[in-house]
Amino acid sequence: MLASDNEGKRRELGELLAPLGVTLVAQGELGIRGAPETAVTFVENAVAKARHASAEAKLPAIADDSGLVVDALDGAPGVLSARYAGAPSDDRANNDKLLRALHGRNDRAAHFYCVLVFLRYGSDPAPVIATGRWHGTIAAATRGQGGFGYDPLFVPRGTTVTSAELGPAEKNRVSHRGRAARDLLAQLRDVLAP
Ligand code: IMP
Repeated sequence: MLASDNEGKRRELGELLAPLGVTLVAQGELGIRGAPETAVTFVENAVAKARHASAEAKLPAIADDSGLVVDALDGAPGVLSARYAGAPSDDRANNDKLLRALHGRNDRAAHFYCVLVFLRYGSDPAPVIATGRWHGTIAAATRGQGGFGYDPLFVPRGTTVTSAELGPAEKNRVSHRGRAARDLLAQLRDVLAP
């Protein structure tokens, strides 16, 4: 079961895990509400979400958490990435707030971070934790139409385009989420082997 109600995530992760014979069901389909995200780190939030969903459904669970980490802002927006400029989530307002926060700053280093957590049961003391980082810098202005969130401001290391100017396949090959997903698959092949 996936501790998320994002259909896009369920489909993408479901396809990734199909070779393992795993079928992914969204927690909402089982009548389970999401756990509150109150921790300071992505990994704690993901563990809490997976633990809640697994304990409620009495099934193995996968949860994810991701966001943008900006060094000059002591890691902000961090776990608040989706709601940086307030709730409800607004990508344009978040990007505007980030540009204001970095106005006049030379240190624009940042990375996207993604964690995927797998628990066999709610009390599992040994969760599988898969992670991915994607390093780059924050541009001076938004560019590009693709992606979502902070993509129009994120310039991946070694490139001059923003991640909103990359195609979905190219982004998936190099992104934090793609890396975390491949890490999870590799670990689960081992953990779930007969
Ligand atoms: P969540 O993991 O779905 O809660 O996403 C957290 C937030 O982090 C998103 O709403 C975006 O603002 C940001 N974020 C995470 N991954 C990406 C990405 O690949 N591109 C741009 N923004 C992202």
